[in-house]
Order: sequence, then C-alpha cells, then structure tokens
Amino acid sequence: MSNCVFCSIIDGKIPSDKVYEDELCVIFRDIDPKAKAHYLAVPKNHFPTLDAMSADDEKNIGKILKTISGLSEKLGLGGGYRLVINQGADAGQTVFHLHIHILGGQALPFDDMR
Ligand code: AMP
Ligand code: ZN
Repeated sequence: MSNCVFCSIIDGKIPSDKVYEDELCVIFRDIDPKAKAHYLAVPKNHFPTLDAMSADDEKNIGKILKTISGLSEKLGLGGGYRLVINQGADAGQTVFHLHIHILGGQALPFDDMR
C-alpha cells in the first residue's frame, strides 16, 4: 500500500530502527516508546485489522509470535513482556497495517488489565 507508513518502512522508503527481519516480518523500535523497550512486529503482508486476515496471514501471525519469543532475550525482554494489538477506534489504532506492540524492559503497569 503506497500510503501506508509500515509498508514504506518494509520497502525501505522511510527509515526505521530495525532490530530483526525475515521473509514474514520486520521488527523495529516504536518511534514514540510507551515502555523502556517498545518494538513493533509488523507482518510484511499488508492487512489493516484482524478482520482482514487471510488464511496465510493467520499462519504467519503464529510464526511471528514464535519469532518474538525466540528474540526476547536479545531484545532485553528476559524479565517478561506484553504483546498488544490495537484494533479500531476504541483501541486507539492509528496505523491500519496490523502490528504487534512488544512492550517490556521494565515492570509494566497492570492495574488496568485485571
Ligand atoms: P497503533 O496506535 O496501535 O496503531 O500504533 C501505531 C504505533 O506506530 C504507535 O505506537 C506509533 O508511535 C508507531 N509509529 C508510527 N509511525 C512510526 C514510525 N515511522 N516508526 C516507528 N514507529 C512508528
Ligand atoms: Zn501497509
């Protein structure tokens, strides 16, 4: 998608602080971090929300979760981390190319989660 910021990052048209890349995804630092460690795992295939996932996308998200798990120590997330996928307006989604927030590097607040 030509007007998608994450597609532009994947295509190398705009810079990012990339920490990992393979055939399915890129992982880069969020430009406006909400935790000491805040990365975005972004599937290379463009789809805006979970509603729009193809069967391949579904499989790839599972593989990307496994990739995140394998990288956690290297990314400074050995103490644990939180994955977040914002969906739509009520969740505050601003970039409509599905992405997984990876938050950690510190004890995370959880009062609003339980
Ligand atoms: P969301 O609100 O779930 O759609 O999250 C979008 C995230 O993308 C926000 O946390 C932004 O800080 C982040 N973001 C937007 N543009 C960039 C960029 N060029 N590089 C890195 N992160 C970005
Ligand atoms: Zn995109």
